[in-house]
Amino acid sequence: MRSLIVGNWKMNGLSGALAEAASIDTLAGELPGVEVGLAPPFTLLSPMAAMVHHLSVGGQDCHEASHGAHTGRISAAMLAESGARFVILGHSECRAEGDDDARVRAKVDAALGAGLSVILCVGETARQREAGEAKSAVVGQLAAALPQGEGSAERLTIAYEPVWAIGAGQTPAQDEVEAMHRAIRSSLVAHYGEAGRLVRILYGGSVSASNVEALVANAMVNGVLVGGASLTAESFGAILRSIAGSGRAD
Ligand code: PEP
Repeated sequence: MRSLIVGNWKMNGLSGALAEAASIDTLAGELPGVEVGLAPPFTLLSPMAAMVHHLSVGGQDCHEASHGAHTGRISAAMLAESGARFVILGHSECRAEGDDDARVRAKVDAALGAGLSVILCVGETARQREAGEAKSAVVGQLAAALPQGEGSAERLTIAYEPVWAIGAGQTPAQDEVEAMHRAIRSSLVAHYGEAGRLVRILYGGSVSASNVEALVANAMVNGVLVGGASLTAESFGAILRSIAGSGRAD
């Protein structure tokens, strides 16, 4: 399974940041063994999609409705028309702002219906972790949001992102990551049968050039979702090179 490395720029980047994307795109072309995606803010989606050749561009969220009176929101079809190939859904920052499991599920259906692939984020909070509820929280989020339709597994990626690790400079121990990825894989196989074995499971949360090699050394980790370290070609490029050189790229 080819490693997937996705950068989530969040609410960062004016048009000058397209130069970073161009450099990342060039590097992605030099590292064919890895698959690269970038999720810029909506304002940069269209110009970035028109410019890149070797990476796919995606959205960071979408509304579950196809259109209507939803001021400030973006539909899945609008993302697709702007050049997005995928959308990140269920990110903990969106969950913290009100996205519950039912809404995440509705967004997943809307995105698939618009022809997008989905990166579905799941992850436990620090409180759930301390209470020994990490696995049940993650499995519960999956059970609530996994789509049913034919072919949906083929357009799905899961990102395990412990909420307490995001932007915090700390990551779980290797055996914790492995145990959670195993639990996620079991849920996927229970839900989709054999097709569930082909869904990529990424790790996200404070990934950097200095820890990525150890993270992807685990065969259960099929790539990474990167926030802060994806903002420049220098830091994201170091992550791409590290994975490409780690023997985890084909
Ligand atoms: C994220 O928010 O998806 C993320 C992984 O952020 P960071 O890499 O900055 O922890």
